[in-house]
This record gives sequence, structure tokens and C-alpha cells, in this order.
Amino acid sequence: MYYKPKKRLGQNFLVDKNIQKKLVQACNFAGQDTVLEIGAGTGALTSLIARQVSKIYALEIDEGLCGHLKSLLQEYSNVEIINQDILRFDFKKHFSRKKVKILGNIPYYISTPIIERLINFRQVIDTVFITVQKEFALRICAASGSKTYGSLSCFVQYYFKPRIILKIKRNSFFPPPGVDSCFLRLELKKKLPLKKSEEKLFFRIIRQAFNQRRKTLRNSLKNIIPAEKLRRFLCNFNLDAKIRPEKLTIQDFINLTKT
Ligand code: SAM
Repeated sequence: MYYKPKKRLGQNFLVDKNIQKKLVQACNFAGQDTVLEIGAGTGALTSLIARQVSKIYALEIDEGLCGHLKSLLQEYSNVEIINQDILRFDFKKHFSRKKVKILGNIPYYISTPIIERLINFRQVIDTVFITVQKEFALRICAASGSKTYGSLSCFVQYYFKPRIILKIKRNSFFPPPGVDSCFLRLELKKKLPLKKSEEKLFFRIIRQAFNQRRKTLRNSLKNIIPAEKLRRFLCNFNLDAKIRPEKLTIQDFINLTKT
């Protein structure tokens, strides 16, 4: 079936059958798994996954595509098609008893809000597998000291252990997007290092530090961290007084928050 892709909904369909298979294989789904697919599109991945798991919820915002998905997937009794916006989807209502695995070639225009939403509902989520723009994936996985390391790396790595599983060339999609993509595995950390009450300051520090990454840590944080606290932190952890934010690891930012 030909479906005219809608640019405004990030509709770049993964048409390379070899990559479709590789991508689903890499998830290692088990027979008892429940999966939520974000943006099922034309259902190419949905039908592959349906054969491997106990239940798959195929979420799609485009009503026209949902009609197509219903007829394409009618032979699978374990597929439930939901015509909804992922940013309004209530995970707790659907997955209160069993954790769900997430998979999606997610629309690039809302990659960050989707990750934020997954974090908000992490109590009911197992592992996350998503395809994102290559540059975005590199920023997520970056280590301290690298050019791509920044507040996004710290934000995502605070909650997840991210790993690039597969690089996907732009011509694997129709229509081909302007950039290549990466398929990422985001494994949720079992225990978070900070208390809820400390997290607000931690994220504020990170935002502020990377907002002015050319400045020294001391200068960029002077409005939110008392000079004495910063001095104590640098001294206790043996860090250079002129250190720049990108040299700090996430653990350093955690230590600073706790100091
Ligand atoms: N999974 C398909 C594939 O691999 O070919 C489609 C991927 S396409 C990059 C992204 C899909 O997400 C599109 O089908 C689009 O309609 C859908 N989508 C866009 N915004 C969405 C939203 N807010 N909530 C749910 N689905 C959305």
C-alpha cells in the first residue's frame, strides 16, 4: 500500500527489510514480553514483533495509518492499535501490573519530549529501544571531555545506561531524512544516586554549567552555588580551580550537588 508520508509528523518509514530484521533481533524480545511501539507507521516492525512477544501495543497518532494498521495486522490477536499522541499516553493506566518494553523509530521533532515522558513513567518501563538522529544519539552517549558531551548526555545518563546498537543510513528510510540515524538501547538504572529533593539542584547545575560551557565552572555557577561550597567541592575532589564544565563527569556533578 502506498501512503503519502506526512513531514510534519516525522514520517520517514524504515523500508530496508534487512535493517528491520536486525533492529528487532537486537531487542532480544522474549515470549512473555509486552511491548509498546511508539509511532507504528505502516506496521513493518509491528508485525515482526507481534510474532515474538505476548502483546504489542502499536501507538500511532495518524488516524489514517491506524486504519491501515488495523487491516494489515488483523491476523495477530496480540496486537492492539491505539490512535493516540505518545505525549498524552497514560502508561500507568495500561501497564500497572507488568513492565513494558518500549520500541520506536521515534519522530525526530519530539525526541527529547518523548525521552522525558519515558523517564516520568519509568516505574512501569523495562528497557527502551529507540531510533534517533545520529547526532542526537552521539550527544546522549557522549562521555565527559568530548565535544558532544553536554546537558543532554548528563540528563539521559542520570537515568539510563545508553548504548548505540546499530547505525542506520538515511537511505534505509522512505523518504530519506537529511541525516543518518542510530538505534539506541536505553537501560534504566535500578537505583538513582540522588534523592528526589536533590535532583532539582543537580539538573539546575547541569543546565547552567553547559549553558556557558566556555566559562570556567566557577564562573558559570557563581549565581547558583555559593563560592565557599564550590571551593570545598573542587578541593575535596582534587579538581583544578579553572576546570571547565565539560571536563566534569556525571559523578562529579552528583558530588557537587551533595557537597
Ligand atoms: N515505525 C515506523 C517505521 O519504522 O517505519 C514509522 C516510523 S516514523 C519515523 C514515526 C512515526 O511516528 C510516524 O508513523 C508518525 O505518524 C508517528 N508519530 C509522530 N508523532 C507522533 C506522536 N506524537 N505520537 C505517536 N506517534 C507519532
